[in-house]
Amino acid sequence: MARSDGLLQSSLPYTVVRSRRKTMALVLHPDNQLEVRCGQKMPLVEIEQFIREKESWIRRKMQENSRLIPIQVPSEPSQQTALRKLTRQKAFAVIEKYPHLVPSQLVIRRQRRRWGSCNKSGLVSINLCAGLLPDELLEYIVVHELCHLVHFDHSARFHRLLEQLLPGAQSRKKDLQRYLIA
Ligand SMILES: [Zn+2]
Repeated sequence: MARSDGLLQSSLPYTVVRSRRKTMALVLHPDNQLEVRCGQKMPLVEIEQFIREKESWIRRKMQENSRLIPIQVPSEPSQQTALRKLTRQKAFAVIEKYPHLVPSQLVIRRQRRRWGSCNKSGLVSINLCAGLLPDELLEYIVVHELCHLVHFDHSARFHRLLEQLLPGAQSRKKDLQRYLIA
């Protein structure tokens, strides 16, 4: 993969990520970084044309993104340590409510773009900053990952289980999308 930065005439900064793909795609990250994914040889003029065609969509999305609530990692190491402890305690309190779903390990760590993840050996990672969210959203993140211990996908079965364990999970998911990992 190769990355390069550009700036459209209309002053929309973007990054081009080239790989072996055939089609072009736009990704607007929650922090409003605009990324164009395309093939190795896609001419710049076509890339810019593509962005221009999508410009009103991009601008609208950017406005939505700027209404997001940033959740910031504390800069002081001692505060980070305290936050790690807090997030771990809160996550454990949720896990204890589901004794039939036990992760092999719980890791609290900084993640740029994800609130949580679960791997095939049952290790659940929760974002360090999750402890700063309202408790019901942290609960959603943890229960979501616990459901991956049963269904390692986002299938209908997964969502049924999640809704069964945590009624109203979908609306919590929506609420969570208002927060940005900053
Ligand atoms: Zn998931």
